[in-house]
Amino acid sequence: NADIPQPVLDVIARLRDLGHAVYLVGGCVRDMVRLVHPKDFDVATSALPQEVQGAFRKVIPTGIQHGTVTVLQNGTHVEVTTFRSEGDYLDGRRPSSVAFERDIVKDLSRRDFTINAMAYNPLDRELVDPFGGQSDLRSQLIRCVGSAQERFSEDGLRPLRAVRFAAVLGFALDSATRAAIPATLGVFRKVALERVREELVKLLLSPRAESGLLLLADTGLLDVFLPELARAEASAAASVRAAVQASPLEVEVRVAVLLADLVDRAQARDIGLRLKFPNKVADLVALLVEHAKAETRVGEPDAALRRLLARLGPPQLPLWAAVVRARVGVRQPDALPAVEALIARVEALAAAKPPLTAKDLSLTGGDIMAALGVGPSPIVGEATRFLVESVLDDPSLNTADALRQRLQAWQAQVAR
Ligand code: ATP
Ligand code: MG
Repeated sequence: NADIPQPVLDVIARLRDLGHAVYLVGGCVRDMVRLVHPKDFDVATSALPQEVQGAFRKVIPTGIQHGTVTVLQNGTHVEVTTFRSEGDYLDGRRPSSVAFERDIVKDLSRRDFTINAMAYNPLDRELVDPFGGQSDLRSQLIRCVGSAQERFSEDGLRPLRAVRFAAVLGFALDSATRAAIPATLGVFRKVALERVREELVKLLLSPRAESGLLLLADTGLLDVFLPELARAEASAAASVRAAVQASPLEVEVRVAVLLADLVDRAQARDIGLRLKFPNKVADLVALLVEHAKAETRVGEPDAALRRLLARLGPPQLPLWAAVVRARVGVRQPDALPAVEALIARVEALAAAKPPLTAKDLSLTGGDIMAALGVGPSPIVGEATRFLVESVLDDPSLNTADALRQRLQAWQAQVAR
């Protein structure tokens, strides 16, 4: 119980004093049984949402239609959800109705996996484990509560969650749970890609991303949302998985490594958007994919590497380096020293803070118009681009005088 924050214990004590059944449920119980510090603590109770609202001074009805109320207890947000069961799943995505229940076992039986279907009352030190969650934790197995076939047909996201938990926890899928996946892929296909992406990200950022990706491929799940990888040649797919595993735990880096050897920049962006990543993430992944194959650039002159730096933007340099290292380390370890030297050169160029964009020029837009003797017009943009290219070639040209001279030469050239 030492793990449980006092405000959570206070909420549980208050509901129990009012005569309600009340438990911690879900991931936090799983983690406490595994002796891992839980991320967050979810409370479930027999009290109806109105009763929960009446029991505390500060409450936010966060998901009242699903029975969830957030209690503000000593500055801590505690989510309290009324025991519930779910009606039929008509579309494989959302239950058609939810019903509030009095009995914790009813609530636990709607949950996905045995290890996620335990409840614990820390005041009475009572663990409710009707489906063998403790035993499956010991055996390191992900097993559906009830018939896997039925549970996967109700909610098509569950097979992906099974693989995600296997990767995050380093567990295996129970054989019946695994065997149910291929036959329920049709239901998985209907799941909103946003929910798929959330689970995929957790899998990619897990310590066993490589085996998680393999399990996704072997079960047929991957083909539904990432056919680009599912249909890649076996050896290519294996090195993609290994490179993901070898890369740091950052979502843009891992997604870029996942895609870099399969698709080009535009396709990477499309895949990012298809999976409902925010635009910014999709753009950054696309940028990293575009410049991932740095082994081809070893030996390029400084000017070319400054252009690379300008395209990436200096803040993205560590992400780019991470993508490059992971790919080359797995695919061409012999080329790694040369690629490390290339990365070091780009870092050294960046450290000198060279001018990279129009904003960095020693002439403002106004200065450029004055020097050209024109008002706002397309020619100003062209001249600016010319100056940026000039300083990328030679950063020492970035003085007002030198740039004015370059402009005169350019203007004479254009006039001819
Ligand atoms: P994490 O550490 O990743 O948050 P978690 O177990 O808390 O793991 P959540 O996705 O936050 O996972 O869900 C909380 C609990 O809700 C789960 O432990 C499980 O009991 C239940 N649950 C979540 N999603 C489903 C689902 N699709 N079908 C059935 N039960 C689910
Ligand atoms: Mg959770």
